Amino acid sequence: MLGSVKRYLEYCKRCGFCIVKCPVSQVFDGLETFSPRGRVLLLYGMSMGELKATISIAEKLFSCTLCGYCTIKCPAGLELEELFSSGRRTLNNIGLVPGEIAEISRRILESGNPYNAPLEEREFWTNYIEEAPRRRGSVALWLGCTTAYRRMDTCAAAYSLLKTLGVDVAIVEDERCCGAPLYYAGYLKEFKDFLKQAIMRVMNTGADTIVTPCPSCMRAFKEYSAKVGLNHGLKVYHLVEYLGKLYLVKPIPRFELEARVTYHDPCELGRHLGIYDEPRKLIESVRGVRFIEMNASRELANCCGGGGLYLAVDPDNSIKIAVRRLEDVPPNVEVLATACPSCEVMLSIAVERLEADIEVLDIADLLWRALSK
Ligand code: SF4
Ligand code: SF4
Repeated sequence: MLGSVKRYLEYCKRCGFCIVKCPVSQVFDGLETFSPRGRVLLLYGMSMGELKATISIAEKLFSCTLCGYCTIKCPAGLELEELFSSGRRTLNNIGLVPGEIAEISRRILESGNPYNAPLEEREFWTNYIEEAPRRRGSVALWLGCTTAYRRMDTCAAAYSLLKTLGVDVAIVEDERCCGAPLYYAGYLKEFKDFLKQAIMRVMNTGADTIVTPCPSCMRAFKEYSAKVGLNHGLKVYHLVEYLGKLYLVKPIPRFELEARVTYHDPCELGRHLGIYDEPRKLIESVRGVRFIEMNASRELANCCGGGGLYLAVDPDNSIKIAVRRLEDVPPNVEVLATACPSCEVMLSIAVERLEADIEVLDIADLLWRALSK
């Protein structure tokens, strides 16, 4: 890692642009150790042997949502968030992982999900649909742990939408965590084992395509798989991307809902995967909807505070970041839509905290509501 950290310092212009909008740095009032540049310096000191690797340094590395804002703001083109991920792996390899992160990882390894929830509860959402879901089809709907356990309505809406639009959709038998949190925690071997199992379970449905409402799961199948040498050959789409391809080509006239709607770009779907247009087009396609762009949007969207396992490390500040994100919602908006279950959870907590009169919905929920009216 030393070589890459040195290169970072060599090219760094000391401009501080990465610090200004770092969500974690903001909640720490700009304190350097909790800023992107501070993290680079800690890694540099450690690599040069000037700083002893300690759990305290690990905590600073994990006090980051991996939102990627610093990377897009850096005029030197330094991929900071990538460097922080690699720093996490280095520390993990020598056993330095914050307790909360070790605990989440243990839960995934033992129960198959970060919530330690029973596996049979994973399909409770099927009670919200009329018929038993199909188990074989050409498109596998991969729900992900947060959608399955925390957003059952979104699971039902996503499945029902795909089925209503004529997709040969199947759900994945015995779905468990794809391993993305293990990847973020730096447990690469364990991540690979989980992802391998996930790929096998998808293949058992007979599908050649994965569609998921979760950007983290999408990145695990699409990006991280290659990093650990799992080349599966499956096509991978986020739900909004797939619905955009399918439905925007042949719109359904029945989508109708009277509402003023804005959209929060999830960091992983936007900055990391570059999907900005499809969610907006889908929202705007609903008759009766008035779409109002959120302040700080697309590449410059502010983070919801929940990424990179930061919620587990520092829940109070993580929620503070979500509450700040609500300041970007334009006045008189009724629905705050998003396309990531973690963002939906974080923004819903923020709405509750502020007792704000706004509903947080996944785009799948919004579309399904518009179709069922
Ligand atoms: S990835 Fe986001 S949270 Fe982490 S240092 Fe960069 S801006 Fe801050
Ligand atoms: S934005 Fe890039 S160049 Fe500027 S201080 Fe941060 S790391 Fe250095």
